Amino acid sequence: MNVTIVGGSFSGVYCAIKVKELYPSFDVLLIEKKEKIGYIPSGLSMLLNGEIDTLDEAYFMTKEELEESGIIVLTSTEVISYDLSNKMIQTSNGIKLFDKLVLATGSSQKSSKMFDEFSDIKTYKDRESAEITLKSLTEVQEVVVIGAGQAGMELASGLIHHGKTVHVIETMDYPLYKYFDKDFLESFYTTTGKIEGLTFYFNETVKQIDDSTLLFSSGNAIDIKEKLVLSANSVRPELSIFDNQLKSNSDNTIFVDDYLETSVQDVFAVGDLIQVPSFIFQTNVYAPLIVNAVQTSLTCAKNMIEKKEILRPMLKTIGVKLFDYYLASTGLMESEAFLYDERVKSVMMTLPISTIYKKDVTVKLVYNALTYHLLGVQLISKEPVLDKINTFALMIKEKIDIRTLNQLPHFYHAVFANTSLSFGDAFGKGDDLSEI
Ligand SMILES: Cc1cc2nc3c(=O)[nH]c(=O)nc-3n(C[C@H](O)[C@H](O)[C@H](O)COP(=O)(O)OP(=O)(O)OC[C@H]3O[C@@H](n4cnc5c(N)ncnc54)[C@H](O)[C@@H]3O)c2cc1C
Repeated sequence: MNVTIVGGSFSGVYCAIKVKELYPSFDVLLIEKKEKIGYIPSGLSMLLNGEIDTLDEAYFMTKEELEESGIIVLTSTEVISYDLSNKMIQTSNGIKLFDKLVLATGSSQKSSKMFDEFSDIKTYKDRESAEITLKSLTEVQEVVVIGAGQAGMELASGLIHHGKTVHVIETMDYPLYKYFDKDFLESFYTTTGKIEGLTFYFNETVKQIDDSTLLFSSGNAIDIKEKLVLSANSVRPELSIFDNQLKSNSDNTIFVDDYLETSVQDVFAVGDLIQVPSFIFQTNVYAPLIVNAVQTSLTCAKNMIEKKEILRPMLKTIGVKLFDYYLASTGLMESEAFLYDERVKSVMMTLPISTIYKKDVTVKLVYNALTYHLLGVQLISKEPVLDKINTFALMIKEKIDIRTLNQLPHFYHAVFANTSLSFGDAFGKGDDLSEI
């Protein structure tokens, strides 16, 4: 049996490993168009933030490591066209036949219409574009970042750390709107808005860009001479290569069934190419995150020969360090409550992280007003508390009643932790703060 996987990033690599582990006798072939596999998309931000010294460190896996598991890896090989019904793909190194095919070709920052109109917007998701952007950064002092989502804000944070002057443009009226409520982030964006060299342009959508001006829909404009323009817009897959051979969803993602098989038998799709079922909304959503890429690829591998395991519903969980803040979010936001079937309430609290070390973490809990089940959590702190969000995500999945928070079997240590009782107390006080 020949299993061919196209795309050598998180979903392709983990799918290849799992298929080989489950079916050692199969020939597993991974095809990647780039010179290397396993580049981490936030490599440029990590470099600018001083977390790594060179982009060579921004890899989670090498070709050699993958080959050690018995997987055949073809790099610098691009799939140019697909003939899915004849189980054939055309690559830059000739035609390949497959028994099973996994599409793991992900998404691109170039999915926006802006790229058709202005060629000089730079991206940085892959190693090559990150290198080009890095070189351009040595030539300019000012940078325009389009999009104040996680990727755009991480980049802005790195650029400020690197001494650049940064302009961040965002259609919404605050940053990170996919993961945080506006009220929760207020002190974050007012404080960061005062950082020297950083300017936010909220409620502004880029309408047109030429060599000298970036024009907003509002009629306002910024002069971009001597400035580097970077896109940190939402990503989407490029589906034209499939030449209408696959059923797609209205948001330009590939349709898959519960077992990750596409509309063509023996052809699967994973990672940023597809939607995933949402734990909160009982529907499918597009959530391009590494955890989803890995989960979809592992489930896909299990269903390769026989449909055994459906993809379990996911929570969108993120954690990020921006400027001096650690921010994390999981599950439902209050601003999304209108999409949720039942009544929702929320409470916000600021707690000391430990008894001795009196640094704060601010937490917002969103919960079902009738059952008190936890539905969503946002947290922010100047201390590295990001891993706490994983416990909250688990509590949401386990449908924990928020009134029992002080009964969690957490350890107590005066230096490293606080009593879970303080959580319960704070919740009791804030119980009726907000109702939707
Ligand atoms: C700047 C940035 C930072 C991010 N940071 C985070 C983060 O910190 N945490 C998080 O959870 N998510 C993050 N994300 C999202 C995350 O990058 C994606 O969800 C994840 O990379 C998806 O993995 P994937 O394998 O499905 O696709 P991709 O990572 O897009 O990989 C697709 C691979 O397929 C290859 N390929 C494409 N077409 C072909 C072809 N025709 N032939 C051969 N090979 C091909 C590509 O070269 C690429 O290697 C970030 C995204 C961006 C843009």
